[in-house]
Amino acid sequence: MSSLECKKCGRWVDNIGDNTKSVICSMCVLAKVGLPEEPINYISTGRPPGWHWMVEFVDKDGNVFHKGKEQPKLKGTLKPTKVKPPKKKIKRRSKDEIYLARHELKKAALKKAVKKQQDFINHTIDKG
Ligand SMILES: [Zn+2]
Repeated sequence: MSSLECKKCGRWVDNIGDNTKSVICSMCVLAKVGLPEEPINYISTGRPPGWHWMVEFVDKDGNVFHKGKEQPKLKGTLKPTKVKPPKKKIKRRSKDEIYLARHELKKAALKKAVKKQQDFINHTIDKG
């Protein structure tokens, strides 16, 4: 048995195995365990709205959920579910664009009307 300096704070740690190359003292371990880095409300991040209604949802950490129920046995066995980015807001069309769109519609309607007429004529000719 020997002593080693804690690799985090330098405090001497006694009674460690001879093969131990680095050690973290109990204070540092406690600090690590007692102060989680992740905020408690992490559930609300990275998951799409309604994820718990999905038949199967895999979060970015590989946690698998079936209809919102965690499946610990499946953790890490599936690829994270791709979360679709929120739909882009429809860009408001400018007056010019609206005018052009209307113009195109009119043109299309006219084309259709002309074709109808031609069809009608052809039809009558066919009938002879
Ligand atoms: Zn320490």
